[in-house]
Amino acid sequence: MSLLEVRDLDVRHGLLQAVRHVSLVVGSGETVALVGANGAGKSTLLRTIAGAHRPVGGSVLFDGGDITRLPAHKRVGLGLGLVPEGRHLFLSLTVEENLRVAARPGYWDIERVLDAFPLLRERRGSRAVNLSGGERQATAIGRTLTTNPRLLLLDEVSLGLAPVAVDDLYRSLRTVIDQGTTVLLVEQDLGRAMAVAQRVICMLEGRLVLEGRADELTREQVTEAYFGLGRIGTEARSASAPATPAGGAA
Ligand code: ATP
Repeated sequence: MSLLEVRDLDVRHGLLQAVRHVSLVVGSGETVALVGANGAGKSTLLRTIAGAHRPVGGSVLFDGGDITRLPAHKRVGLGLGLVPEGRHLFLSLTVEENLRVAARPGYWDIERVLDAFPLLRERRGSRAVNLSGGERQATAIGRTLTTNPRLLLLDEVSLGLAPVAVDDLYRSLRTVIDQGTTVLLVEQDLGRAMAVAQRVICMLEGRLVLEGRADELTREQVTEAYFGLGRIGTEARSASAPATPAGGAA
């Protein structure tokens, strides 16, 4: 049974159409990774699901109900929890205060979050401004977890973080996933995305160009979709693929 269903979604930023005719479902208990190059529309899609952008077409259904026109704060009440890119912590508050600020009753209380993110336990009294990038991301995820979301939307989990910090975060994320939380995450690192998710969805220039089970897709298939290589000739291919996706997927 699908917890989230996106139907034929179109989202614009002014004249720019950032999301084009996107349809997808996320099943209850599933972990789905949304991958794609910079500017592919991943954050816009995630933010639209959370209610931060209003689509110009299509619809978003959560647990069978149409939430397309519902304001963001009401979506939190239904169980949608977004960890935005850039983390947006209250920097003058401590880790624990950040975790308490939006807490709602449920499985994820402060102690369980600190168990899942052990590096935060010794930092619980530190102000967010003094945290490392990895600790800030852990606090941001923990803060959303304490709202006890039924669907956790994670934007750019590993962006700008040292590999060792990313390893820690993904270990913690595994605990969260194993506990049963449904997760839709944006991740530029294909290796991480394919390792953590059951299903991978790839976007290119606002469109959904590939979708499949992580254990059935090859790195090559995802990399081709990531860069749109299937659409162009071999000659253009070498000229238009200046870099591999983070994690060296190519
Ligand atoms: P990134 O990894 O760089 O965040 P992304 O796949 O998440 O990329 P989006 O951030 O959704 O992509 O951006 C999709 C397109 O929309 C890009 O061309 C981007 O420049 C544009 N865009 C995103 N946010 C805005 C905004 N607030 N105003 C105008 N254009 C925007």
